[in-house]
Amino acid sequence: MTSAATERTNLLGLPRPALEAFVAQLGGKRFRARQLMNWMYKRGVGSFADMTDLARDFRTRLTAQAEVRAPDILSEQRSSDGTRKWLLRADAAQAFEMVFIPEPDRGTLCISSQVGCALDCSFCATARQGFNRNLSTAEMVGQVWLAARELERGQRQRASTGEPASAPGDERHVTNVVLMGMGEPLANLRNVVPALRILLDDFGFDLSRRRVTLSTSGLVPQIYKLAQETNVALAVSLHAPDDALRNELVPINRKHPIAQLLQACWHYLDEQNGRSVTFEYVMLEGVNDSAAQARALARLLKGHPAKVNLIPFNPFPGTHYRRSSAPVIQRFRDELLQRGVLATIRRTRGEDIDAACGQLAGRVIDRTTVRLGSKVIGVALQP
Ligand code: SAH
Repeated sequence: MTSAATERTNLLGLPRPALEAFVAQLGGKRFRARQLMNWMYKRGVGSFADMTDLARDFRTRLTAQAEVRAPDILSEQRSSDGTRKWLLRADAAQAFEMVFIPEPDRGTLCISSQVGCALDCSFCATARQGFNRNLSTAEMVGQVWLAARELERGQRQRASTGEPASAPGDERHVTNVVLMGMGEPLANLRNVVPALRILLDDFGFDLSRRRVTLSTSGLVPQIYKLAQETNVALAVSLHAPDDALRNELVPINRKHPIAQLLQACWHYLDEQNGRSVTFEYVMLEGVNDSAAQARALARLLKGHPAKVNLIPFNPFPGTHYRRSSAPVIQRFRDELLQRGVLATIRRTRGEDIDAACGQLAGRVIDRTTVRLGSKVIGVALQP
């Protein structure tokens, strides 16, 4: 929350009670926290000098001790379908990605929760990079703050020039947030929970809990913890109907097998009055896409509040997996539907800029270390 360089507290990392405590410590009244949040989250203002209804001396104290700082943008790419991907700086040597996906009725922002990932799922590009570090609450909230500002800026620019939207979705705002970028959010629960609180807070981004989705590879104990803390929508990366195959695709399954995972999911729904759990299922040709596997999946989920989201595999350099063909994916879906299990096929977006599921790799990073003798003196970051 405090940046080492400046020792200022980044307010994007503070949910309302913590912000109130911070404001009190600066000698401000409690309601100042709400005013601050209004500026930060409703109006996208990050400079205290511009927060004109705050007393001048309070603004001066804020400027000395606090900041509203989102991650720096290293680069941005735009897909022909309107999807936008930003590469964001984690520190001198590390970067992570966020993706905005405009659709006719919504704008979904996919944020990262870690730089890299430790879980080593065999079909995921992020896994290749290994685990670097957890993102802070401010870095996660900062992604949403930044995207909202970037989208707003583009819209203002067009309004002032009278230029029409150039790409589909250019008029969209962030209406939904999914924790489906790089990393395993439940492995960073300590920072993720406060970030979720800010996303849901009326004075924060004010998103309804159904518009915020956390996706996990299946850290069972953390699903129980999450149920105590928040009530956002839950998505689970299942990908296989039996333990033998899931052990191979999602190795955490060896620790938390399918039966335990499903039990945790139903518990989450009971506790949170949730409508259903979404099960993600990546379609890998000849691996998990047979009709028999669809039937096995249906047996697991039938009668439970579950939806299956079939994700056509998105290839990346060096992978030996291939995407199931469209007819095979449709047959798989139909097998599920015929057995009373809701299933949809995820439309792949942003493929031309490697922004699709499982392709986020932050791979501009050249992890070559700069050595002086045996001592590492730096790590080169290549744009
Ligand atoms: N660690 C969390 C969050 C990542 S979400 C999780 O596992 O759920 C990203 C989703 O995309 C997950 O369902 C993941 O399994 C899936 N995915 C990963 N690599 C993929 C790929 N190459 N093609 C399609 N989907 C992939």
